Amino acid sequence: MVLRCIRCGREYPEDEIRYRCECGGLLEVVVDLDKVDTKIFDGNNITLWKYESWLPVKKIVSLNEGGTPLYRLNNLEKILGVKELYAKNEGANPTGSFKDRGMTVGVSKALELGMKRVACASTGNTSASLAAYAAKAGIEAYVLVPSGKIALGKLAQAIIYGAKVIPIKGNFDDALRVVIEASEELGIYMLNSINPFRLEGQKTIAYEIYDQLQKVPDNVVLPVGNAGNISAIWKGFKELYEAGVIDKLPRMIGIQAEGASPLAKAWKEKRKFKPEKNPETLATAIRIGNPANWEKAWRAVEESGGMFEIVSDEEILKAQRILASKEGLFVEPASAASLAGLIKLLNEEKVDRDESFVLVTTGHGLKDPDIVLRNFKLPEPIEPTLDAFRRVIE
Ligand SMILES: *Cc1c(COP(=O)(O)O)cnc(C)c1O
Ligand SMILES: [Zn+2]
Repeated sequence: MVLRCIRCGREYPEDEIRYRCECGGLLEVVVDLDKVDTKIFDGNNITLWKYESWLPVKKIVSLNEGGTPLYRLNNLEKILGVKELYAKNEGANPTGSFKDRGMTVGVSKALELGMKRVACASTGNTSASLAAYAAKAGIEAYVLVPSGKIALGKLAQAIIYGAKVIPIKGNFDDALRVVIEASEELGIYMLNSINPFRLEGQKTIAYEIYDQLQKVPDNVVLPVGNAGNISAIWKGFKELYEAGVIDKLPRMIGIQAEGASPLAKAWKEKRKFKPEKNPETLATAIRIGNPANWEKAWRAVEESGGMFEIVSDEEILKAQRILASKEGLFVEPASAASLAGLIKLLNEEKVDRDESFVLVTTGHGLKDPDIVLRNFKLPEPIEPTLDAFRRVIE
């Protein structure tokens, strides 16, 4: 396998430590599709490392990631009038988000390259995940987080797994800039999603969706922040297609929050992508104004015949509540953007109710309990008697 620039096509050996091409373009891992095992998509024993022949590293550091449930949302199918609706629940990964898929591969790669220190900038989940995998690998992790803008559960995770957590006076985009400079100057291995090996792990979401459904859905809907995941999932489907495992491709539908929607705005206004200066949304996992992978994501949406859509924070909270109260699925706000986006697109008749949709619910709701409790007040305590209880429920 080699690394190839998506802009100019220049190739680099896969063991060269580099995150971008000389021309500035993003790199991607070119998988040797003659060597992959195409016979494994039988719906059984699904875990990320089932697909090892499709991945650019051997399994070195693992916490049993992947193999997350694909739920049929039959209550919501009725409510929304959609023929086939599923959620790929990435909150079921070891640290509670899909970032674990990227980190099992990324940290394995770090060890393969002999790196002893790893770092990332993070809106929360990346730091929690990197911290856990670095702990398992026995190496040092540094995580830069926007001060005061990271959900409580995620911060607690990064701390207890033993990472060095460094708050920064700035937003995610500022933190990422510093980490990229540190990786160049201080020889620390950078595990943000411009690291192409991260995306190799995350592409397995596509493999699993196909393996679990035994068919390709018409549409895959997911939240977009730094835009790595939508790029990775599209790459996964394309590889299946090019290897002859599947004979159709899904549309990729990327959802952004109103206050942090540089890609979706450019798409809808049919103009060139331009970063946003001060991203703001309560869906902190997608509070990103300058998505590093925007070029890959744009391509994914364009090539797949998909679209970007924008939802408000209010729509996100509403969708979060619907998923939990109608399907028993508690996801963090960013993850609920996928359902919020689908509801909006259905209402505007931009998607077809007779098609199949997979929502990627990216992270677990318990990571950010504040957001729920902030909008909910418990009633006054009652006397410990049956009478008092009866009065309350009647
Ligand atoms: C990281 C993350 C996202 C955004 O993914 P990108 O690859 O940055 O677009 C969405 N939801 C959750 C829960 C995340 O942790
Ligand atoms: Zn290039």
